[in-house]
Amino acid sequence: MKQLQEKILTDGKVLSESVLKVDSFLNHQIDPLLMQEIGDEFAGRFGKEAITKILTIESSGIAPAVMLGLKLGVPVVFARKRKSLTLIDQLYTASVHSFTKNETNEISVSKDFIKSDDVVLIIDDFLANGQAVLGLVDIVEQADAALAGAGIVIEKGFQTGGSMIRERGIRVESLAIISSMANGKVEFHQEVPT
Ligand code: 5GP
Repeated sequence: MKQLQEKILTDGKVLSESVLKVDSFLNHQIDPLLMQEIGDEFAGRFGKEAITKILTIESSGIAPAVMLGLKLGVPVVFARKRKSLTLIDQLYTASVHSFTKNETNEISVSKDFIKSDDVVLIIDDFLANGQAVLGLVDIVEQADAALAGAGIVIEKGFQTGGSMIRERGIRVESLAIISSMANGKVEFHQEVPT
């Protein structure tokens, strides 16, 4: 997605060879128009699947997921990283090791919101080593729901998550795939694999 690539080039900050900061439009301040276009792009790519639910993880997956939910007219569920007092029983849970925080969180989703007749699309902001997506896949499997695939805003193609998840036969659509961040310079894969 050209517009997203341009935004990454103008506003993204390369913190190291493997960490990109996009706080000005995705991870802290949010650019609603860009999020809307991201939602439209995901809808174009996954629109033929009979998606009934979008599943993401708090907090940075929520904005693109909601824009897609609005476009497709389906609810958006976000996995919680901390258990709330009102979310105690009847949970699906999975362990997710955070790439950026280097800590393991137990994520949870209420059994009320994903059912065995759902067709679920996973959305997340970044794909690095694939732990967040795998945790969400685990929850979809626990619910016995169908998985339509995973839509990722920014995939770092030089990390292992994308190939690991695609090797499991899961369709991954990433709107920007970074091939390298060496020397502080972001480079993209030109072809977006399906
Ligand atoms: P994974 O689980 O695939 O290793 O990492 C994905 C998660 O880590 C995303 O949900 C995202 O929050 C965070 N993440 C991974 N790499 C980056 C990065 O380069 N920049 C930012 N801002 N977040 C990242």
